[in-house]
Amino acid sequence: MVMKLPMPAFDSVQLVGDVVAERAGGVNAEFFKGIKKEWAIRVQQYIDSAGAPPTVSTWPGIKVRAKSFLNLYLSPAADSVQLPILKAMRQHELTVCPACGELGRPNTLDHYLPKGTYPHFCITPVNLFPMCDACQLAKGTKVGDAASPRFFLHPYFDAFVGEEVLRLEIRPPFDAPSFSLDIAAGLELEQEDLVRTHVRELDIERRYAAFFRSQHRRLLRLVSGMRASGQNVEQTLAIFKQGVADPSPNTWEHVFYAAVLASPSLVDYLANKPLPKYL
Ligand SMILES: [Zn+2]
Repeated sequence: MVMKLPMPAFDSVQLVGDVVAERAGGVNAEFFKGIKKEWAIRVQQYIDSAGAPPTVSTWPGIKVRAKSFLNLYLSPAADSVQLPILKAMRQHELTVCPACGELGRPNTLDHYLPKGTYPHFCITPVNLFPMCDACQLAKGTKVGDAASPRFFLHPYFDAFVGEEVLRLEIRPPFDAPSFSLDIAAGLELEQEDLVRTHVRELDIERRYAAFFRSQHRRLLRLVSGMRASGQNVEQTLAIFKQGVADPSPNTWEHVFYAAVLASPSLVDYLANKPLPKYL
């Protein structure tokens, strides 16, 4: 699940001025000069509203010039002001996808508000963050709908994702359990709704299922080894859980180990009951 990311180290409003200044004298000079003020206001509005649609609106007036914006992102000149910023944002050291929490380096930069619908945010640093391919494919150009204007959590602005937002329950029989996901306790109603649409629209529960099944098989093998070497099963699992809480309590592994330790009957099974022979 989502993790909180530090704000980008680049000033999104400043970048508007820099890009327009760089275009002075070029073929698009007049166009960018004419929209500079409104562009900067819209970027500031994005920051003030935490990127939340529909508060951050589209800009019908620039629709016919969308390509001029998109080129800033898709084919930035080698000496352009935005290229080093985009490069730096791609050179992150994340080992977990900030949108779903799956382990692995997220390879693409996602536009929180899609660049097709919001071309004026296509190089805006606060609108860009790393994402895994599976999330990006599921997200596509979605933003929200009439019932839920905003589907997705924002890793820069939704500070509450620094804490656990999902709770997994592992149900018996423990040699072949079933899994169910729920929203963690303690969230506000609006936050709960947002986590729910985020999970639904990124298809996270289906993607989790295979992971949890294989993680559980791995757990049974690990526990069997712990018992054979005389280790305290519960204490060792607590250390495992602690070890996977970084960089976020919402990584898939941490969600799993938190569920294991939250179930006294599962812990008892792992520590004391006969384990399946086919490990
Ligand atoms: Zn992901």
